[in-house]
Amino acid sequence: MSQCMKEGFCVSGRSEFEIRNAAEQVRKLFTDGTDIRYLDIVRILEHKMPEAFPGFRYEIVSPSEMPDREAEMNPFEFCIRIQEPIYAGAMNGDGHCRFTIAHELGHFFLHRTQHLAFGKKAENGNIPTFKNSEWQADVFARNLLAPFSATRGMVALQIEILFGVSRKVADIIAETVTPTPAPIFRTTVQTMEQMMFAF
Ligand SMILES: [Zn+2]
Repeated sequence: MSQCMKEGFCVSGRSEFEIRNAAEQVRKLFTDGTDIRYLDIVRILEHKMPEAFPGFRYEIVSPSEMPDREAEMNPFEFCIRIQEPIYAGAMNGDGHCRFTIAHELGHFFLHRTQHLAFGKKAENGNIPTFKNSEWQADVFARNLLAPFSATRGMVALQIEILFGVSRKVADIIAETVTPTPAPIFRTTVQTMEQMMFAF
């Protein structure tokens, strides 16, 4: 989903539940506990992050300077770099661009102390999902922008509009918060007659 890295790095394993809690804690920190839905992710990047983490900075770069990814978080420099069109898109409320910034913040909060792990590229791209840095940052971004507790029972369109995420991300969240009901019973029988014999 993210254009940060294609395969990701192997990092300490985390469950979706753990990452969801971490993202909701960060959200509370940045919203002073107020019950808002649409998170101003650009304001967080520009003002809240440098206030909360001295030394943190961000850079807007041209696509030609960083052609292979839309954004990146450098754990050695405490710096998030963002392509100019992505930054501009986030300013305009584009869901994909907002998600990209939230994803990089996920790397900051989850992976900035894992310098050694960042140097360990996946072998043959084969990392268990729960240890994949990209999967973790995506889960963080989803829950930072649209917390599980606030989206429960909503359909994708509501989540997309209220929380400012793309339809693709809203679909994933809606599926998580309102799982498809399991069938009452599973059977391979096809006709009523076969069902009678099956029971
Ligand atoms: Zn990433």
